[in-house]
Amino acid sequence: MNKKTYVKFIDFSIPMSVCNLNCSYCYVNKKEIQEPIPPLKYPVDYITQKCLSKERLGGNAIINFCAGGETTLYPELFNIVKDLLAQGHVVNIVSNGTASQKYDEYLQLPQEYLSRLFFKFSFHYLELKRKNLLNVYAENVKKILNSPASFTIEMGASDDYIPYLDEIKQYSMENFGALPHVTVLRDSHKPNIICTKLNRRKYKKIWDEFNSEMFNIRLNYWHSSNDKTYCFAGYFSYTIDLINGILRPCSFISTDISPFEKNIFENADEEIPNIPIGPNCPSKHCVNCHAYLAWGDKPQLNTPTYASIRNRIMPDGREWLKETIKEAFNTKLYETNPDYQEVQQRYPKGCIPYYPNKNKNSLLENIFSVKNRYSNNIKRKVITVCGAKIKIKCGSGK
Ligand code: SF4
Ligand code: SF4
Repeated sequence: MNKKTYVKFIDFSIPMSVCNLNCSYCYVNKKEIQEPIPPLKYPVDYITQKCLSKERLGGNAIINFCAGGETTLYPELFNIVKDLLAQGHVVNIVSNGTASQKYDEYLQLPQEYLSRLFFKFSFHYLELKRKNLLNVYAENVKKILNSPASFTIEMGASDDYIPYLDEIKQYSMENFGALPHVTVLRDSHKPNIICTKLNRRKYKKIWDEFNSEMFNIRLNYWHSSNDKTYCFAGYFSYTIDLINGILRPCSFISTDISPFEKNIFENADEEIPNIPIGPNCPSKHCVNCHAYLAWGDKPQLNTPTYASIRNRIMPDGREWLKETIKEAFNTKLYETNPDYQEVQQRYPKGCIPYYPNKNKNSLLENIFSVKNRYSNNIKRKVITVCGAKIKIKCGSGK
């Protein structure tokens, strides 16, 4: 069999905040004013066929879509996904599991496309229960289970769920034949804090009951500030804003510390930046380690595969990941990019030295400056006063 290889992991963010749910731990529907869904700045076929062509990327990619709200509500998403599947890429969609009509639309795609389509269903048990949507959620999961597409179920390790763990486990076993995977929740206002009132030992003991590789990797790589192993984010993987085409090496590198960002939709004939972050990641925590590290961004680390973080085997032997996705999710990007050691030799300090001016404030800027923290969110600012940095949020934005 001719094994298909994937050479990049691309995480597309969609800066919108519209959702049909209102989970207690989420900021999306807590805003006073709902902002309109931002339109694409470039045509769909130009993005999919020119900007993300196999030729430009150097091969097929694993492409993830995640919005600030419910991803499937983004109006152009279906056409983008269809085009990317037609080109041979794998597509992941993060969704809350309640968008029944949208899943029906995707399930009309050709079987071969569906074999490369994966849904990450977030599992917001209490909100589903409050809105009487537990049956809808279970039916949608079963729809995907009985199709050629793949899925996973991921629940946040929220203290709110602890009194309900027995009923959550029972519902999960009855409806998806396995327990959900569990993710560590961060405080969105203080990203260095895990959301729990429990001490680390108790927290781990409770959520270890779910036997989730997702939980293990998130907790194991939480404190990564002293880890100076070489990171290939920026070479193996990128994050891109779907609206304006701004590429950054990693999703948790904000513009005030990012060594580079580039609009890769502006000129589809231009090469995509291909310089890794290297040994000096400025982020305190590898917050999306379950993706970037699992795909192999740090080849020296012995991380679990992305397949092991997402899959579950049901009592009847069926698996959440079907064969094609399982094979794709077993990829380590250092195996499909065999020149990576030469790249490391070429850029021993990674990309940071190539963009020194962006990484350092001038003397005047150190005395006083106001900058955006994120390219896609002008409401998050960093104010520098006499060298001290203060992070603030303006208005009601996320
Ligand atoms: S489903 Fe996701 S985006 Fe929607 S309210 Fe819940 S956590 Fe927020
Ligand atoms: S170490 Fe983690 S946070 Fe830092 S660039 Fe690599 S993937 Fe991103």
